[in-house]
Amino acid sequence: MEASQEDRFARQTRFAPLGSEGQQALADSSVLLVGCGALGGVLAQWLVRAGVGHIAIVDRDIVEETNLPRQVLFTAEHARIGSPKAHAARDVLAAVEGPTRIDAHAAHLDGDLLLRLGAEADLILDGTDNMATRYLVNDYSIAHNTPWIYGGVVSSGGLVLPVLPGQGPCLRCIFPEPPPPGTLPTCDTAGVIGPAVGLIASMQAGLALRILSRNSDHLEPALVELDAWTGSVRHLGVPRRDDCPTCGERRFEFLEASGSRADAVSLCGRNTVQVMPTAKASLPAVEARLKEAGIEVKSVGPLLRFEADGHRFTLFTDGRTLVEGTEDPGRAMSLVARWVGA
Ligand SMILES: [Zn+2]
Repeated sequence: MEASQEDRFARQTRFAPLGSEGQQALADSSVLLVGCGALGGVLAQWLVRAGVGHIAIVDRDIVEETNLPRQVLFTAEHARIGSPKAHAARDVLAAVEGPTRIDAHAAHLDGDLLLRLGAEADLILDGTDNMATRYLVNDYSIAHNTPWIYGGVVSSGGLVLPVLPGQGPCLRCIFPEPPPPGTLPTCDTAGVIGPAVGLIASMQAGLALRILSRNSDHLEPALVELDAWTGSVRHLGVPRRDDCPTCGERRFEFLEASGSRADAVSLCGRNTVQVMPTAKASLPAVEARLKEAGIEVKSVGPLLRFEADGHRFTLFTDGRTLVEGTEDPGRAMSLVARWVGA
């Protein structure tokens, strides 16, 4: 390590489990960060400031004013001009002037992009807000023996799970199937407070530093539930399951499906995108949650219609959603994840 780098990282190398060997391991490591909004923004800060060698940031969304209370990388100016989150994050993190090489991808992470970016990654970090991407990443992780760290946050708390292939449970050991869209609360329907984001993402980041610095031999992966409002921390014992479709039976259906069909297609000339479901939506559940969030929902025959964020949404019973007012599939998927759940 160069002398200036030694000075820069002196406080963290003094932390005995890390030391200068661990710091060198961080400098030699590469991370794929999926999503750089709330969780992802905090994750990116900790990893870049800690001196990881390379980070690839993927995010399909743009910065909006409602992001600012908890998405720590973004400014009001980013929101005014609607910067792609990945680019805004790269620019802000570059100003730290650390040793990290930062790549930004303003894109939806499908199976093809994951195969490409995952090949360089020693670890994948979940900074997303949707289950479809997490099942895809979980498949990739087990198939390619690359660890990943799940994080989910809503209202005042959430969950963290490090997935170390061959060393503990994977996401599908715990949640075998993705929940139907609309059955889980989202940050847009149930709300979220910034400290909950910081809590969950910081635990993910701490585990990330441990794994990247090669200190994870004795790490026992556990699902941890944390709450920034009540102060509670619960370790939920979850065993690896031999009959898990992914890590037990080694079926990678999300990874295989993702390459063969479009998750969202722009409908030519209509300024509308059709987003395909990951599972069949429960329209009554979606309707109830939207109403809780103060959104006016109209039932039109078997369809649901509502407006949010300046777009009109139409939900079909087979789970498809039409998003009017955009031609950008990534943006449409992001809006559907936000308001319908995914
Ligand atoms: Zn599993």
